Amino acid sequence: MSAPRLALVTGANRGLGRAVAEALARGGHRVLLAGRQAADLAREAARLGAAGLEAAPLVLDLGDPASIAAAAAALAAGPPLDVLVQNAGVFGEDSDRTAARRTLAVNLAGPVRLGAALAGGLADGARVVLVSSGMGELSSLPEAWRGQVEAASSDAELLLVADRFVAAMEAAGKTGSATLAYRVSKALLNRLARRLAGELAPRGVLVNAVCPGWVRTDMGGSGASRSIEEGARSILWATSLPAGGPSGGFFRDGKPIGW
Ligand code: NDP
Repeated sequence: MSAPRLALVTGANRGLGRAVAEALARGGHRVLLAGRQAADLAREAARLGAAGLEAAPLVLDLGDPASIAAAAAALAAGPPLDVLVQNAGVFGEDSDRTAARRTLAVNLAGPVRLGAALAGGLADGARVVLVSSGMGELSSLPEAWRGQVEAASSDAELLLVADRFVAAMEAAGKTGSATLAYRVSKALLNRLARRLAGELAPRGVLVNAVCPGWVRTDMGGSGASRSIEEGARSILWATSLPAGGPSGGFFRDGKPIGW
């Protein structure tokens, strides 16, 4: 019998990440449930285990570079990852003066660092999904930020634009808008998907950004138009692409959407 394929999902304790992790486990993967809440993750792993599925918790705070490095070091000793879903994310509060900093740290800097730390530990032919949002479309950004986001390609450039954005919002003495911070973070995440796709193409790794649609999670709220299952399906599509499938794209429900 062959070993189960290994998947890692960030933000797996609730919302879309929890649903994606369970679906991957039901599809025969051994799933690493990554997130900040050790007790929640252990409970979730036990719930899946009781259903005969393979899952294990992995403590990972995307806002903390040391936590990312520790998680990557723990993984380095194990088998390569066949599926990586960078799902965790935050949408700040307008009134919170630290919202821009936190949003860019978790939604962009964390995924950049985790992507770099795990790239060497991906199996040839792996699938990588960055969970983004249609709100990150470049056309939705103010001109000044659109140009900078578009020009950023390396990890260092992505992090530099994120730092500049946070500094500008804090210098203005406000977050600007939590929505703008979220838009900028996801627009930069889309650039990361394109960059990783290029870097990993020689190894047959497919990397795509995916929007789940507006989903009834803690983040999306109860008035959102989609169920968690519908949103998760949009993400899962990109985890099971055939060899030679699209890479470096931005999709919702398996269909390309605008950058
Ligand atoms: P939820 O708010 O329900 O869940 C967010 C998840 O991210 C939680 O597991 C949370 O863990 C985790 N997380 C937050 N901060 C960190 C951190 N510092 N380190 C590790 N994990 C963290 O959101 P959704 O499930 O709705 O969102 C999942 C993804 O989908 C996000 O990237 C979001 O931007 C995207 N998306 C969602 C939409 C929607 O309508 N819901 C629409 C478009 C995109 P904890 O419990 O520790 O906070």
